[in-house]
Amino acid sequence: MGLSVVSVANLPTSSSVKEKTRMRQLEVELLRCPNCAGRIDDSLCCIGCKTQFACESGVYNLLPGYLEDVKKNENLVFEGELDEVMRVQARPWRSIINRPEVLRFDNEIVDLYRGGRFLELGGETCFASAIYKSVYPDATVYASDVSPNSLRNGAIPTCGLFPEQPDFYIALDAENIPFRDRAFQSVFALTMIHHLPNPVKMLNEVQRVLTSGGRFIAIDASVPNHFVWLFAKTAHERVDRYGIQEDLISYSRWMSILSQSAIPVQSLKVYTKGVYQQNPMYSMAGRIVNKIPSVLARQFFPVGVMIVYDKP
Ligand SMILES: [Zn+2]
Repeated sequence: MGLSVVSVANLPTSSSVKEKTRMRQLEVELLRCPNCAGRIDDSLCCIGCKTQFACESGVYNLLPGYLEDVKKNENLVFEGELDEVMRVQARPWRSIINRPEVLRFDNEIVDLYRGGRFLELGGETCFASAIYKSVYPDATVYASDVSPNSLRNGAIPTCGLFPEQPDFYIALDAENIPFRDRAFQSVFALTMIHHLPNPVKMLNEVQRVLTSGGRFIAIDASVPNHFVWLFAKTAHERVDRYGIQEDLISYSRWMSILSQSAIPVQSLKVYTKGVYQQNPMYSMAGRIVNKIPSVLARQFFPVGVMIVYDKP
């Protein structure tokens, strides 16, 4: 009886957890100016080109001066007054409950890491950062997205539901990561590579910021050219509405992207477990493709793909 009273008394209150997180210092010595690759000082000013970066409403903005339109437009997806944003803000659990990719990250992915400094790229609601931080509370966790609105209106309310929150929310361009070489033990990218104008550049950046022995995991999908029609409607809706990029990448193109990058093509795998596929088409295809060799499956059917890369 007495023991349980003592343990309850010793439990941190949620406000003290938040305070502890807030107190962690931004590791400016790890930052690298996205405009000139120079060092950034304690006041977030670049020592090389004098760009002044800023933190607004809990989001550090380390975006480069130039950003392609498809990246800038990502900021429209989580803009303040949109219905779906209001829904996420009013009931943030709706953006995570029952989502197969949340369950998959918790059940299969987070334990593939060994802890250490974590960077999530294109995280949108950034639940993966919150799960990682809750599993590895000693790690410094950077949740990022190209859209400051996604971080402010999506990630901050969503991550607040978890026992631990990411240490920092950083708006950054994944093709021009504002961190110095070998800064991270763990990097994660959930269904974001197909939104990028230049995935090869992003993979090279990931390879650069990973420490030796660090691990990169990416989850995405592959759609053979003869199945593009099936996904085109949903993809075009988002493209037309926001002006963002929604690429449908075939497996042979995935292999070509990796072969041009610093991440070896052997890191790419077919992933077919139906239970964790967001799109019913993939889970149906998953049931079929599990019965045939994956070299055929990936050529003829839409399949999930996964990159697991360990930097030597
Ligand atoms: Zn600079």
